[in-house]
Amino acid sequence: MRIMFVGPPGAGKGTQAVRVSAAYGIPHVSTGDMLREEIKNGSALGQKAKSYIDKGELVPDDVIIEMVKERIGRADAKNGFLLDGFPRTRTQAEALDEFARLDTVINIYVPDDKLVHRICGRRVCSECGATYHESMLQDVRHCPKCGASLFIRDDDKEEIVKQRLSVYKEKTQPLIEYYSERGILHDIVGSGGIDTITKAILAVINGEK
Ligand code: ADP
Ligand code: ZN
Repeated sequence: MRIMFVGPPGAGKGTQAVRVSAAYGIPHVSTGDMLREEIKNGSALGQKAKSYIDKGELVPDDVIIEMVKERIGRADAKNGFLLDGFPRTRTQAEALDEFARLDTVINIYVPDDKLVHRICGRRVCSECGATYHESMLQDVRHCPKCGASLFIRDDDKEEIVKQRLSVYKEKTQPLIEYYSERGILHDIVGSGGIDTITKAILAVINGEK
């Protein structure tokens, strides 16, 4: 099963991707998580990526394409993978076509005003990577799952969020048509409860919808 999630920042791609990839036993390949890991490790790639991420811009295509190609070439991705955050440009989509064929693309749709609210209230666990909205937390400093400290991503500040949304519209949204023309795109409304959305996605992937 080769699945890709597309949708604006804050649509809940990451949250859903963790659940869906576990349901199929395939790796969750998140370019955002991979880049943040590189930054944390202080690698050359991480340093380069940070300068783009902090401005809400996309990291250059060649860097991302190499990174994903290497990742999905590993043994654990032999029977499939779930791409989250890639491809994000037409160049990336065309490069992916050269090294893998997608079975299903899930487009998670959420209105803009909700997105800004969601992202600006996002808190991320420094240890287990879980994400929360501040309104759901009794203690906004500690992870309810593991107790480690929560932080706000540097690129989750309001001006940067607006920039990310505009980059999404310009560069990534056109991919919806790219995959729709192939007949593999499915729209999912991303504004219900987390479990409801997971069920809807699994139904689509299983061909029930
Ligand atoms: P979100 O989907 O919430 O914007 P991500 O964690 O997917 O967050 O990505 C964070 C940042 O990492 C992006 O704003 C961008 O700078 C960079 N990035 C992630 N994936 C890609 C990609 N495929 N191409 C270019 N840049 C990327
Ligand atoms: Zn945690």
